[in-house]
Amino acid sequence: MTGKSALITGANKSIGFEMARQLSRLGYRIWLGCRDGARGGEAAQRLRDEGHDVRFVEIDVTSDESVQAAAGHVGQADGLLDVLVNNAGITGGLRVKPSQQPVDNVRTVFETNVFGPIRVTQAFLPLLTAAGGARIVMVSSGLGSLGWLSDPANEFYEVNLLGYNSSKSALNAATVSFAKELAPLGIKVNATDPGYTATDLNGHSGYRTVEQAAAGIVWLADLDAAGPSGGFYFERETVPW
Ligand code: NAP
Repeated sequence: MTGKSALITGANKSIGFEMARQLSRLGYRIWLGCRDGARGGEAAQRLRDEGHDVRFVEIDVTSDESVQAAAGHVGQADGLLDVLVNNAGITGGLRVKPSQQPVDNVRTVFETNVFGPIRVTQAFLPLLTAAGGARIVMVSSGLGSLGWLSDPANEFYEVNLLGYNSSKSALNAATVSFAKELAPLGIKVNATDPGYTATDLNGHSGYRTVEQAAAGIVWLADLDAAGPSGGFYFERETVPW
């Protein structure tokens, strides 16, 4: 049992919710980050009913005010944070050709998938630094892999979502930047692809389970001192940028 703390954004359902369960089993005290008080409170209660050590914190990753308030809340309660998982993400909802995706819709996707994790990472950095040896995981996507998407043999080659795909490529770039800066502090920062998973995000068309998806993320959240930083992984295999 680690007794360490972990905050997961977008954790009221799906991959984030299952990650909370798996990290709790490893002994982490969970901050269940959710943008909606009612949904978050109910989800946290469900996990507590299973015996997990879970506290709810309201956090909308697109709002400076909300993220600052969440960091203040966690700071006041614990004074530190051992693990941050930037999991909240959206697709933008449009399945249109890149030439037809309105810039405003692309911007909305970037607000959650790119600026959100950057905002949350910056706001929680004092608490992560205070923990000593913290871990940050960016929940990216194989659709952010330029290597995979430019390979006609790859299974995702035809999935040409301008906003979503480019947002995850940008998140990968942010991962590399943060990893370089934070290495001297002993903070490891990695990106991960949970794989094509049946959740609300894709109308449950994915073929992987949330249990499988969460396991790869939990591995990076719980890395020991010898673990990697500045990488991009699916399960424990490197994904091309
Ligand atoms: P999901 O079922 O749609 O759940 C997304 C979660 O993010 C929900 O809890 C949602 O809250 C939350 N969220 C959305 N916008 C938010 C905001 N502004 N602030 C805080 N929370 C917000 O998606 P999922 O499949 O579990 O996806 C989790 C992560 O994995 C995402 O980053 C996604 O891009 C990535 N991913 C998923 C797949 C897949 O096949 N499912 C594949 C690759 C990568 P509400 O309930 O309030 O909407």
